[in-house]
Amino acid sequence: MGALSGLGTLLVGCAGFPTQSEPVVVKRAQMQMGTLVRITAVARSESIAQAAATAGFGEIHRLEELLSTWIPTSELSRVNTSAGVKPISVSQETMTVVQGAIQVAEMTDGGFNIAIGPAVDAWNVIEGRRIPTESELESLRPLVDLQAVHADVRKQTIFLEKTGMRIDVGGIGKGYAADQAVMAMKNAGAVAGVVALSGDIKTFGQLPGERKFPVGIQHPRKEGDVLVFIDLEDEAISTAGDYERFFERDGVRYHHILDPKTLQPARSCQSVTVIAREGIWADGLDTGIFVMGVESGMRLVEALPDVEAIIVDHEGLVHVSSGLRGRVRKP
Ligand code: ADP
Ligand code: MG
Repeated sequence: MGALSGLGTLLVGCAGFPTQSEPVVVKRAQMQMGTLVRITAVARSESIAQAAATAGFGEIHRLEELLSTWIPTSELSRVNTSAGVKPISVSQETMTVVQGAIQVAEMTDGGFNIAIGPAVDAWNVIEGRRIPTESELESLRPLVDLQAVHADVRKQTIFLEKTGMRIDVGGIGKGYAADQAVMAMKNAGAVAGVVALSGDIKTFGQLPGERKFPVGIQHPRKEGDVLVFIDLEDEAISTAGDYERFFERDGVRYHHILDPKTLQPARSCQSVTVIAREGIWADGLDTGIFVMGVESGMRLVEALPDVEAIIVDHEGLVHVSSGLRGRVRKP
């Protein structure tokens, strides 16, 4: 047996011809959706793996053209500029994201709310570094109204009832894009892989050697440090944190996840990581649970099948859901 071990990666095909069975792993990265997208593709050959990676990036590009509010001609931009005027016909994909967002809003008691757009713009945490006044936020409050978002499945249209309303799928769209990119990669022949839009990651299958995909969760207060590692197979993971896009003023941290009730940055967590079967749920739930806080957030996670979470609360205490306790590894 010892002499054969070097051949362990070569299998003999049933027709008697030796076939190379060791899969090829290709890794590529590029900027998309305002973030670094990394794709790992595992396939029978280099050319299939490359084609699968290309298909994954292509799918994300296609979705960005539909969903980005930075692109004035995107479907969502047209929905937003037609607020208070008329319904807009949208693709199946845009409908899926908006309906998914409405479902996550229900699950998270309104913690997740894609009608948050006007408040996100008022804060403009990335560029503005300004703190909107209470009265400014007060005037936006009627616009942050999910009941006034009408997604008509039959007509496949979306209508925002009030002038000035804007929907923002920044809290769920990257997870959905990861799901769709994985589908495109499978269709292109990949047997396994990872699509990571910064912290929104979807994995499928295994690495050569029956290895799962290890993922490190960023420590919310020690840049570059890993809080815990976890191995994934056919799962999505997504982290919402207050440490990536924020500014500080007078010792107070202002970041990009807003509480739809106060329209202020949500204060109950430092980071929320959610693991689910699909990226759309992992991504939507991380943002929603960040707003809910550890107590009701964990209660929700424990009630949902196939959903797990690691929550770092506002004091830095780490809470791990019951289904993950045997799975997390300390660095
Ligand atoms: P990212 O991976 O880009 O950090 P998150 O999943 O953490 O994304 O979501 C943050 C983004 O979601 C914000 O930049 C904003 O566009 C949007 N957002 C902020 N607060 C909420 C909220 N309460 N509900 C839904 N979306 C939100
Ligand atoms: Mg999210």
